[in-house]
Amino acid sequence: MIKQIKGVISFTDAEKNYIKSLGELNGNMWKCNDEEMEELKSNIRERLCELQGLRCAYCGFKLGVTSNEEIEHIAPKGKIGKRVLYPKFMFTEKNLVLSCHYCNGFSKKGTFDTIETYCDEYEKCTFKIVHPYFDDPEQHYEFTSGVRCILIKIKNNSKKSRKINKNI
Ligand SMILES: [Zn+2]
Repeated sequence: MIKQIKGVISFTDAEKNYIKSLGELNGNMWKCNDEEMEELKSNIRERLCELQGLRCAYCGFKLGVTSNEEIEHIAPKGKIGKRVLYPKFMFTEKNLVLSCHYCNGFSKKGTFDTIETYCDEYEKCTFKIVHPYFDDPEQHYEFTSGVRCILIKIKNNSKKSRKINKNI
């Protein structure tokens, strides 16, 4: 069962200061291998595990305790081609989730721009996908019994929604 994420992680003052010290964010910073960055990411991962009850934010499947689930940026921090996406939301709390390998595969971001209407203020953006913090999945997902598949539904104002099905 997929549940809307209630609540949000928070950063300590030290973490906020560190993020501030980075200046203008760009996607490469995430993997800069800086010790403080690694620590920050590990803290984010831990808090998200707790917040999400160790379940994937997109499909609700149990995340492996030992496997190295990636922190996922709902609005991608990277680029599509030469177009820079949303590095400014790299540490926006509601832009961060943990997802399983399957869903992560779908969203190997940089390949899909999830924002439909951009606004400087994250919470005012609209999204093309079911947003784990803003949307109640039950309103958007269709569950098929007997078939083990993950549905990541692309929202659409019209009824032309399409789904990305992934067989496991
Ligand atoms: Zn998943």
